[in-house]
Amino acid sequence: MTTSADSAATTPSTAPEAAAARPPLPGAATSCAVIDLEAIAHNGRRLAQIAGVPWMAVVKADAYGHGLGPVALTALSAGASWLGVAQLAEALTLRSVLDEAGVARPAGEPSGRAPRVLTWLLPVMDPSRAGAEDSPLRAALAADLDLSVSTLSQLEALEAAARLQGVTARLHLKVDTGMSRGGAMDEDLPALAAALRRAVDEGTVDVVGLWSHLSRADEPTSGSTEEHLTRYRQAERVVQEAGLRPSIRHLAATGGLLWYPQARMDLVRAGIGLYGLSPDPAVATSAELGLRPAMRLESALVQVKRIDAGRAVSYGGTWSAPTDRWVGLVPLGYSDGVPRAASSTGPVGVGGVMTTIVGRVCMDQVVIDLGPARDGAGAPLPAPARVGDTVVLWGAPDAAGREAVPTADEWAQACGTINYEIVTRLGTRIPRRYVGAGAGGDYARP
Ligand SMILES: *Cc1c(COP(=O)(O)O)cnc(C)c1O
Repeated sequence: MTTSADSAATTPSTAPEAAAARPPLPGAATSCAVIDLEAIAHNGRRLAQIAGVPWMAVVKADAYGHGLGPVALTALSAGASWLGVAQLAEALTLRSVLDEAGVARPAGEPSGRAPRVLTWLLPVMDPSRAGAEDSPLRAALAADLDLSVSTLSQLEALEAAARLQGVTARLHLKVDTGMSRGGAMDEDLPALAAALRRAVDEGTVDVVGLWSHLSRADEPTSGSTEEHLTRYRQAERVVQEAGLRPSIRHLAATGGLLWYPQARMDLVRAGIGLYGLSPDPAVATSAELGLRPAMRLESALVQVKRIDAGRAVSYGGTWSAPTDRWVGLVPLGYSDGVPRAASSTGPVGVGGVMTTIVGRVCMDQVVIDLGPARDGAGAPLPAPARVGDTVVLWGAPDAAGREAVPTADEWAQACGTINYEIVTRLGTRIPRRYVGAGAGGDYARP
């Protein structure tokens, strides 16, 4: 039976992260991702100071797992003039979050001070349906978004939608400068630029940006970024010859922003650095860059037990106790974003002591080693931790060094991946708790 209270509780909120931050019952969730919004604001200001040009906060993938709304509003309050997401659906959600928070739209703010939202992965569109009532491109134009275009067929669909709606679409022409991912290839650029010019003359589009993405910005000696820059400048000449004058040229994500001053141009797109992580800790760590990791994933021990030497732990019995042992159960698993590759290696901190997961990571739970259950003389040792004790999977190292906390970088290393994947894969089951000044609510209307 559905009561009205039930349906109210399940009505989707326009700010899904706000709902996610509140468990259905207080105390129902044992695990929690604590997101430090002050760290996010600090990182934004730090990156802006390094870049010296306007910056875009990249908030795709639910702000790299940190929560779209709170991060977007915090980034704006820290001076971001752009917000960027990959998919159109994310951009539409972001626009509702901003509208709800009273953030001005570019169209309603002729001063040009309203933040802009760029999205760079458009859905596949049939140009003959682009202007239909339910067309995603109509929704995109109605949401006052900046859109990326790489192909003639995308342009055709966008023109059709803009014509039917009687608006001018703000476009950023994406060129492929060597990554071979999205973007127009050199050989297709003249035709695309000519078509854009015709659309500009017709008033259906405005080409505001020319952009690309670097593939090896974390490899300062590869020579790759110099090649990207050369191809970018060639593309810029082609575009100018077609009579287009895009005023916002952008190429750099966090790596380019930090390590290639020539790539900063008119705008930088900061993702990972905003969250306090280095694009490549082997080149420079968070601390060396003056960045503060903003996410702390914590849980609690829900069971503590003693097992005999030789006893196997978890599926497949891949780890056996080397001695009589204390182990603890933590209610987080691979469905929560703890990589299965962390089996018997993922680092955790319990009461300031570092230990690891033992045995395989399960869907919802892991077992951690709590140490020997007997001393050197064979006398029983008491359990070193108790049910309810906090377990930290990753977070920011305690500046005072009081608490041993593993980092997302250490997790990435343990699992053979990158810090980006560690934070973005955090599951939707984990509530996010926001701490730090503002907690996202202090964004002032421009
Ligand atoms: C994800 C992404 C970014 C942000 O990259 P970081 O390395 O996280 O700063 C910037 N631009 C594009 C096109 C992206 O896809």
